[in-house]
Amino acid sequence: MIIVLAGTPGTGKTSLAKMLSERYNLRYLSLTEFVLEKGIWIDYDAQRRSFVIDPEGVVVEIRREIRKVYRGVVIETHDLELLWEAGIEPLRVFVLRCRPDVLYNRLLRRGWPFSKVLENIEAELTGVLAWQAKVYFPRVACEIDTTLAGVNATVERIARNIENIEKDNTICQSIDWV
Ligand code: ADP
Ligand code: MN
Repeated sequence: MIIVLAGTPGTGKTSLAKMLSERYNLRYLSLTEFVLEKGIWIDYDAQRRSFVIDPEGVVVEIRREIRKVYRGVVIETHDLELLWEAGIEPLRVFVLRCRPDVLYNRLLRRGWPFSKVLENIEAELTGVLAWQAKVYFPRVACEIDTTLAGVNATVERIARNIENIEKDNTICQSIDWV
């Protein structure tokens, strides 16, 4: 069982993925941490404070890693194209969303440079991850709005969705900001 949590930074991937992995006894895998651990990055962009990855290396390593995970895994990522290229077939891809003004406050609290906060707000406004989900995982993708709900309520919503998949594979919700 592979569950994917995707979203702009600050939408709640780490918090929710860790809770879900405990609840269902699945492994937790952060794609960003994985890339850093494996050293599959080729450059560091100091201005943007982010690592530039080696996409081919990442795809090969993800494939290898996923084969080792028998019971299942909760993967958090902000790049669904990479998972698609690695041939991952998730049971569900949850795209976590957050209203940009609320996300702005969550990201400012991280002490990130203003330019990095704005870059991510823009990504959320334009719905990059939701778009990627619809392009790469159209049959299993759904959007979850985290703006007003607490972490616990959101985890319950996701759990209900997962547990209902076998009964009704159409329980997906889509939201639009524009
Ligand atoms: P990401 O891994 O996507 O960057 P994190 O889980 O690290 O996100 O951070 C999300 C922050 O937003 C946390 O401080 C979390 O407590 C807060 N938050 C508020 N509401 C929610 C919610 N409904 N779901 C998930 N996180 C939420
Ligand atoms: Mn995270």
